[in-house]
Amino acid sequence: MAAESWPTPTSAAEFAERIEAVHRRIRAAEREAGRPPGSVRLLPVSKTVPAERVRLAIAAGATLLGENKVQEARQKAAELAELPVEWAVIGHLQTNKAKYVAEFASEFQALDSVRVAAALDRRLQAAGRSLDVFVQVNTSAEPQKSGLAPEELGGFLAELPAFASLRVRGLMTLAVFSADAERVRRCFRLLRETRDRLRDDAPDGVSLDELSMGMSGDYELAIAEGATTVRVGQAIFGERPLPDSYYWPEG
Ligand SMILES: *Cc1c(COP(=O)(O)O)cnc(C)c1O
Repeated sequence: MAAESWPTPTSAAEFAERIEAVHRRIRAAEREAGRPPGSVRLLPVSKTVPAERVRLAIAAGATLLGENKVQEARQKAAELAELPVEWAVIGHLQTNKAKYVAEFASEFQALDSVRVAAALDRRLQAAGRSLDVFVQVNTSAEPQKSGLAPEELGGFLAELPAFASLRVRGLMTLAVFSADAERVRRCFRLLRETRDRLRDDAPDGVSLDELSMGMSGDYELAIAEGATTVRVGQAIFGERPLPDSYYWPEG
C-alpha cells in the first residue's frame, strides 16, 4: 500500500482533527462503494500509546478503543476507569488470560478456538456479563497469523450457541502485509465471501452481519470489499516505532 506518514497528535484538538479526517475518508469510501453513510464503524486502536495520550483521544471523542494485548489493555482500562470509554481486545488470546477479558472488555475480536470461547463464557457467566465477539479468520493462509481457516469456520460456528454469554457479531481478519493492493484486497474479499456462504446457515443467535477488516494503510480497500468495522491505529495515534511483526508473534 502507498506509504503515508502519520505524525503523533499531542493535544485533544489534534486528535479530534485526526479522527475527523479518518471519518471523512470512511464516508468517501462508503460513497464510492455505493454503501449507505454510517455503515462503517471506526475502531481507534491505541496499542503502545501511553494512557496519558489515550486520555487526549478520549477527550477528543473516542468512546471505544482497540488493544491487541490483554495485559496492556487491562492496565489502561484501570488507569482510565473514570472515563466514558469501552475496550475492544483485538489480538490473539491465551485461555489463561480469558478471565481478564471477561472483566473489562466490551468486545473481543480474535476468537479462534472453542477452548477460549469456553473459558470466556465461564468467566462471563460468573460475572453476570456478556461480550460481543468476532471470529478471527486467517484469510492470507500465512502460518504465523492467528485465526481459523475459512473451511473450518462452519464447524466452529456450530459450537458457539453453547456459550450463552458470547454474542457473535461477525468475522474479523488481518490482510497480508503487502504493497500489492490486489493481494490485500483478495484477503478482504475472501472474508466477505466466506461470510456470505455461511450466513444463511448460521446457527440461531450467531450473527455474521459484521466484517471487521482494514487498518491504517488499507481501510478504504476494506470498505470497498464490505468492511463494517475498520481498526485504525497509526493514522490516528501516530506512527508506531516497532515493526508490525512485533505485534503478531507466533502462535
Ligand atoms: C495494531 C492493529 C491494528 C491497527 O493497525 P494500524 O496500522 O495501527 O492501523 C488493527 N488490527 C489489529 C489486530 C492490530 O493489532
